[in-house]
Amino acid sequence: MSELTIHMFPCLKDNYGYLLHDAASGMTAAVDTPDAHEIAVQLEAKGWRLTHILNTHHHADHAGGNLELKRRTGCTIVGPRADAGRIPGIDVAVGEGDVVELGTHRASVYDTPGHTRGHIVYHFAADRAAFVGDTLFAMGCGRLFEGTPGQMWSSLQKILQWPDDTRIYCAHEYTQSNALFALTVEPQNRLLQERAASVARLRAAGTATVPSTLGEERATNPFLRPQSGDLRANVGLSGAPDVEVFAKTRALKDAF
Ligand SMILES: [Zn+2]
Repeated sequence: MSELTIHMFPCLKDNYGYLLHDAASGMTAAVDTPDAHEIAVQLEAKGWRLTHILNTHHHADHAGGNLELKRRTGCTIVGPRADAGRIPGIDVAVGEGDVVELGTHRASVYDTPGHTRGHIVYHFAADRAAFVGDTLFAMGCGRLFEGTPGQMWSSLQKILQWPDDTRIYCAHEYTQSNALFALTVEPQNRLLQERAASVARLRAAGTATVPSTLGEERATNPFLRPQSGDLRANVGLSGAPDVEVFAKTRALKDAF
């Protein structure tokens, strides 16, 4: 099996675009379409022909370039079944338990409602890579525009089943501001302190902080850490269920 090539590039204000390429089959997928022009430029530079778009959710900075890229390339658009009506040009609707293939590479699809009601993520288990859109960020998670804290917490539980060495490709460079918030709810976390310092150095040098690994997120992302005694005490919910600690942490971030 040839390696799955993952080409990542910044676009719009703080989005990341992704092109996935399988050399053996010549197939190439864009994960979301934040900027059709920039994606076309990157395809041209790589000499790749777009065969698929894999959408995570309907927001314009994720699906806004769908129709233009489909018109230019004739690619197949894969997106969330639960939101098919809001995914421009969708050809193949997928949801929990479905598998998307790119040559010999296989991504399992998970429904992860919360940020939007139809959000999905793509987990290439054998490639140790996951494309999580706006569900999970480095040291953060997506805002709850269309879902409840309970839904988002259930969605994050699915991601937490994956191995620690899974590379987490999120859709935005929000890491530094997420770290500042994380330090307010779990300042005692040594690994978080170290990661925040490292992220500050990387950003000062203009370097991307994505992807991270799920292991790093487990250790430092406050939205995955409601079991932390320090975090619970700091948000004033020492005896509460995990989902309530998560909900409070999310509400504090909204007001941060
Ligand atoms: Zn979004």
